[in-house]
Amino acid sequence: MNQKNDSAVSLSVLLRDFPKVELHRHLEGTFPVKKLYELSLKNGIDAPKEFDDFIEFIQFPRDSKPDFLTFLEKFKNNWYRSYEDVYWITYHSVKDFINDGIFYIELRFSPEHFSLENDFDRGKVTRLIVEAGNKAAEETGIVIKYLLTFNRGKQSEDEMIPLYNKLKKLDLADVVGIDLAGDETNFPPALFKNFFDLVEADGLYKSSIHAGEVSPSRQIWESIDILHAARIGHGISTIKDAKLQEYLKERHVCLEQCITSNYQTGSWPDEKNHPMGELYRKGVPVTINSDDPTIQGIDLTGDYVKAVEYLGFSIDDLVELNLEAIDYSFNTEEYKKSLKSRYLEKVRHFKEKHKLS
Ligand SMILES: [Zn+2]
Repeated sequence: MNQKNDSAVSLSVLLRDFPKVELHRHLEGTFPVKKLYELSLKNGIDAPKEFDDFIEFIQFPRDSKPDFLTFLEKFKNNWYRSYEDVYWITYHSVKDFINDGIFYIELRFSPEHFSLENDFDRGKVTRLIVEAGNKAAEETGIVIKYLLTFNRGKQSEDEMIPLYNKLKKLDLADVVGIDLAGDETNFPPALFKNFFDLVEADGLYKSSIHAGEVSPSRQIWESIDILHAARIGHGISTIKDAKLQEYLKERHVCLEQCITSNYQTGSWPDEKNHPMGELYRKGVPVTINSDDPTIQGIDLTGDYVKAVEYLGFSIDDLVELNLEAIDYSFNTEEYKKSLKSRYLEKVRHFKEKHKLS
């Protein structure tokens, strides 16, 4: 192994250990490959029976050109045959997060995705996912909260509202937000105004809206002004809109950016010049996230390696970014304060272990 490879390996080992706060990861995109393979065989799913072929089946192809639809096609919702399957795959997904250095995570999932194929009870599924995730988090010592995802291409707001009303009655304290995901090009923010007005009026949850991933910056403005977004998923087109950059700073709205995902979906052509570096240096609120590690074939640590190697982030920058991510988490100010002091304690251990001053 040459010197360059040596340093790449040690950087990856170092960053795997680095304590991370993550605000944008989809449960549907983070199943451990081996566990999903096991589930597929157990349920006799129409998927490759050879493990290597199975990996190819579920992951974005390594040699493929970036493409949003190829990426979206990798989300399948027919893996589950019982409530136990949903619990099991959630538990094992969250159990794995500790190997990615997760300290705090806001994990998002779509109750509809897990329920549709078998017409499971959406409330029961939501409760089970939170229970399974909390059990795994407790066993590994990470902190977890949840966002409920609604898919804009699959449901109208007239369908979303009764589902939301049903789910909020579960009164799950660890559910802290609502996420709008899916095809942003054909389903712009204005179509969901009534739904997000209701969420805002209820005051139970904050909202994170996928916007400006493959759509122009206008959709980011609309997500904030019409849908009351407290955070924006991706927000890549911000780089082309100086006024929006100022608006995000003024309104304290943060962009949840995802280097690998943004490349694979075709929303940004060049990982080495991902806009996160420039936005960070301009003081625009940004955070580093994985999005869908299993589909992407890389985890959050892999994205941290890219942030350091390509975008020039130092360890101190990363600490600052993670402290800011706690600020942008959907928690009370008091809880954020306690998270920050626990986070800094983790950083102190990390620096001691790796002899960093
Ligand atoms: Zn996403």
